[in-house]
Amino acid sequence: MGDDYARDVFEALFSPLDVGRITLKNRILSSGHDTVMSVDGFVSDQLIEYQRARAAGGVGHIVLQVSSVHHTSDYTAQELIAVSDDAIPGYRRIADAVHAHDCHLFAQVFHGGREIMSTADGMLPIAWAPSSVPNERFHVMPKPLTRDLIDEIVDGFGASARRMAEAGIDGVEIVASHGYLPAQFLNPRTNLRDDGYGGSLENRLRFTQEVITSIRAQAGDDIVLGMRISIDERDLDGLTPDESVEACAILARSLDYLSVSAGSSATYRGSVHIAPPMSQDPGYTAPLSAVVRQRVDIPVFVTGRINTPAEGERIIATGQADAVAMTRALICDPLMPGKAKSGKVDEIRLCIGCNQACIGHFHLGVPISCIQYPESGREREYGRRITAPEPRRLIVVGGGPAGLKAAAVAAERGHHVEVWESASRVGGQVRLAQRLPGRAEFGGLIENLLAEALRAGVHIRTGQRATAQALADAAPDEVVIATGARPFVPDFELGDGLVLDAWQAIDGARISAGGVLVADWRCDWIGLGVATLLAEEGQRVTLAVNGWAAGQTLQQYVRNEMLGRAVARGVKVVTDVRLLGFDDDTVYLGHTLNGDVVEVADISTLVLATGHVSQDDLSDELTALGIPVTVIGDAMAPRTAEEAVLEGLRVGVSV
Ligand code: SF4
Repeated sequence: MGDDYARDVFEALFSPLDVGRITLKNRILSSGHDTVMSVDGFVSDQLIEYQRARAAGGVGHIVLQVSSVHHTSDYTAQELIAVSDDAIPGYRRIADAVHAHDCHLFAQVFHGGREIMSTADGMLPIAWAPSSVPNERFHVMPKPLTRDLIDEIVDGFGASARRMAEAGIDGVEIVASHGYLPAQFLNPRTNLRDDGYGGSLENRLRFTQEVITSIRAQAGDDIVLGMRISIDERDLDGLTPDESVEACAILARSLDYLSVSAGSSATYRGSVHIAPPMSQDPGYTAPLSAVVRQRVDIPVFVTGRINTPAEGERIIATGQADAVAMTRALICDPLMPGKAKSGKVDEIRLCIGCNQACIGHFHLGVPISCIQYPESGREREYGRRITAPEPRRLIVVGGGPAGLKAAAVAAERGHHVEVWESASRVGGQVRLAQRLPGRAEFGGLIENLLAEALRAGVHIRTGQRATAQALADAAPDEVVIATGARPFVPDFELGDGLVLDAWQAIDGARISAGGVLVADWRCDWIGLGVATLLAEEGQRVTLAVNGWAAGQTLQQYVRNEMLGRAVARGVKVVTDVRLLGFDDDTVYLGHTLNGDVVEVADISTLVLATGHVSQDDLSDELTALGIPVTVIGDAMAPRTAEEAVLEGLRVGVSV
């Protein structure tokens, strides 16, 4: 089917594209994204294996994550650093690894200006920017760049690009997106200078023009030179489409391509678009690249939750862009391009936009991965499935994320695997999560894992209650307990009011007339999602959280988007409180910081989002019967889907 399928169904996506002096083999790219895999600022073996896996999967070109071009641009402790020739060998190794798979490698040259997230020693940095305009997200008050420092930074861009060119990297990309330094110069609200770098559009573009000149002078004309830019920074004081498109039209005369995105690092609302959560429509930024494409005659790439080849094909075929960045789609399934090309579209593991293990890991300072595919970022450990020396019979009890992953991996290795699920369908808590506002795609986690298990030959038995005797009668070689968790009910004073757990509330349980208070101990998607769901159903909702923010434990873009929606729906949030009691119309909360009692009156229904307890009624009995047992996921300890899937992988490769 292969090439015919690509020609018939994804003709645009798999057509070559000339960019500068090179030809890309297809229109799918992995855009620059932090991986937290550098070591002392250099390319590491882990990063090489991560990118090698994507190149081998068929992507047309990869844009390596940002490299700092000057000592004032270290915006985290984990970025790549290109300020000395010592960086060249690492760049060369990763370029060679990617080129071996007929894939091109570009690299980002970066200065964040006032966007400094963290430093290696935890000290507050001196953030250099065009002007002293404060950053809302990192709470930085920048210092205006001196003329000498501007010259040094401009030279740093060129010198860094020269090192990349010497290493054999095919292209360099100036990061003018998301409110970073070139965008700060361009934006008249962040650039208040009255010298040759401020004021008119010509002056505000001077810095970027000098960067382009410096790169061409030092790296030569052969290297592809592009620029990434947020066409709409999507917040107060951010760049507007008119401003950005005008800048693109001018700068395109000196560039080989433009890479279009949206959002800004500088604000909570704008930063959501750096890695837009599942609540955003797939391909929602394509209209922005379409506008740019009408104004320039160089290729235009676009980024923005493009998670299926069909969406990529649509964007390119309709002329909205020349290539599509499918970055998280490739984190989730590095083999996606090859599967699309060969007609195995149904086998693609679709990214669900949860952000938890990709950019979520970046914000935690740990290497990138994927909640659905924990092999991602762990290529050296789990990059290859090793066939089991002897097939064994395995029964997995529980068809949630942990159980399905364990079953799929074990079956891929040659074991005979059954999943026993007591409910009428697999999925566990995920089925509830997908009913919350803006969380519908979360169910894709189960669809993907189920498909993988079935393809591997797993026998799924729904409605199959597992007792120790039934399992003993089935005589497996090993049992994996993945039975999940059930809601935890804390101790508190209770009168006559109606109390529900969050699962019941999501499942449509009757709510008494009057106000609802959601007591949220975990500060994750459950309390915030239930509160929003009930508010959208017309209830008057108070969300009382045992933390400094609703959604505190969520990846920040997901939290900010969900919290913004909840507040817009009228949910009243009370922070830093624990549940003490509930009589017939008042909830009593204890302030976790000062011990005061906080009363919330006119409440007729209390919803508990107070965590879970493991549900493992079988392992002791099975052990007593001499059956080898492994307990994973929430059945071991209630956590999130990410830990569940990872533990499923671990048991699947070791059984
Ligand atoms: Fe996509 Fe979630 Fe995986 Fe990130 S962690 S790549 S958003 S599925």
